[in-house]
Amino acid sequence: MKTPTITIAGAGLVGPLLAISLRQRGFPVVLYERRADMRRVQVSDGRSINLAVSARGIYALQQAGVWSELRDIAIPMRGRLMHLLTGELIFQPYGQDESEVINSVSRAALNIALLDAAEAAGVVIHFQQRCLGCARAADGIVGYARADDGIVVRLRDEQSGQEKLIAAEVVIGADGSSSAVRGEMSRSPEFRLFEERLDYGYKELTIPAGQGGSHAMETRALHIWPRGSYMLIALPNVDGTYGCILFLPFEGERGFAALDSESRVVEFFRANFPDALALMPNLAENYFANPTGAMVTVRCFPWHQEGNILLLGDAAHAIVPFFGQGINCGFEDCTCFLELLDAARTSGAESIDWQKLFTDFESSRKPNTEAIADLALENFVEMRDRVADPHFLFKKKVDLALEARFPGLYVPKYAMVAFHRIPYAVAQQRGRIQDRLLDELCAGMNRLEDIDWSKAAMLVHRDLTQLGKR
Ligand code: FAD
Repeated sequence: MKTPTITIAGAGLVGPLLAISLRQRGFPVVLYERRADMRRVQVSDGRSINLAVSARGIYALQQAGVWSELRDIAIPMRGRLMHLLTGELIFQPYGQDESEVINSVSRAALNIALLDAAEAAGVVIHFQQRCLGCARAADGIVGYARADDGIVVRLRDEQSGQEKLIAAEVVIGADGSSSAVRGEMSRSPEFRLFEERLDYGYKELTIPAGQGGSHAMETRALHIWPRGSYMLIALPNVDGTYGCILFLPFEGERGFAALDSESRVVEFFRANFPDALALMPNLAENYFANPTGAMVTVRCFPWHQEGNILLLGDAAHAIVPFFGQGINCGFEDCTCFLELLDAARTSGAESIDWQKLFTDFESSRKPNTEAIADLALENFVEMRDRVADPHFLFKKKVDLALEARFPGLYVPKYAMVAFHRIPYAVAQQRGRIQDRLLDELCAGMNRLEDIDWSKAAMLVHRDLTQLGKR
């Protein structure tokens, strides 16, 4: 079977993972990345130091054979540890036991492991090559005069500033939420693009390691300082540090705009996150050195242009980071794409119908990425506000107890998303039904002992039995 060269824009996380898997299937792959090689030069984009990687991401990394080496640098987090203003700490487990954890993984280490594995697999990576756009040569959209049905990619060397054109057969845009490949596609009249920016921004901060690389707080948890309309979170790193993210509105008294001096920043932390401040001797320096990032949900369609160009990962569907699913979703794109590709390769056809493959990929994936985009937005309110509410925490206990009593039938929404590979759209639909069931069962109660389990059985039977076991 013909194996055309696959050209990928973006060697972040999704690009190299897909590249490795395509090489393993015999496709020549060339990656173009606008940044310098992070294995040789320090590259910071001001994004999270670490990422929560869970079932979907792990599965995809395992399929490509790169999870085993990452496993040693992943710190399992069993639940959320809430830091209340009173100094009280409340732990809320994510799952039933030690097997249900999410993993804090260094973004840089993950990126480096993927780049190394991609090169070892024979992928050619060109760094400091920014893709400016690509289009079917015949369309002349970007002004090229070529008469064949291939693709022309426009690149700029980030060091010299020189631009060049290269010919390509199949192009994958894995160039992140501000994708240039998508930008070019969006010129087409049928392309639909919705970008929803939050009024909130984020800033990356660090809690340094203690003596001898020790951790200053609990390691097996994701720390949250929920403060109603804003929050701070911290994820542990293997070197004893914590990668923190401060989420605040851009404007207003408690927003980034108001924190315009060292004393204001320190005062804000003293008033709102005093225990975190005690662990951040370089807070003000750290705060002003790092950029304030924006968060966007990108919904666009179609994700492909004929059988030539396809968007994947954040380029197709960036989501806000509150469910810790962005990369898990992007990696699951790879799983889904490769399953369809494998089916096409073994179909007995002489060549792959790329247009059909891209269309099938889009239709199976789009409802799921829409669902996780919504779930991620909903989770922002849960994390910054509801996790401090005793009734919410009680319901989380009942949620887990229901799963233990009705395994497979009742699976908490968080578990469906983070510990299983149940399609996101199914998790969203079942999650909504379960939310109503939980509200009905827990109304007016606050102790697990008071739950009426025969009523629970009736509700589960009424609402979930017809949906079948997961
Ligand atoms: P990216 O990681 O953005 O990679 C795109 C790559 O393309 C980059 O290397 C970029 O330099 C390159 N590039 C961009 N433009 C061009 C161009 N024109 N030409 C060539 N190269 C280009 N997800 C989780 O699953 N768990 C988490 O805990 C989590 N936390 C997050 C916290 C924050 C604050 C943020 C902002 C996001 C978080 N995410 C998380 C989401 C996650 O970071 C993204 O979903 C993920 O990085 C997307 O991977 P990607 O490869 O599609 O895009």
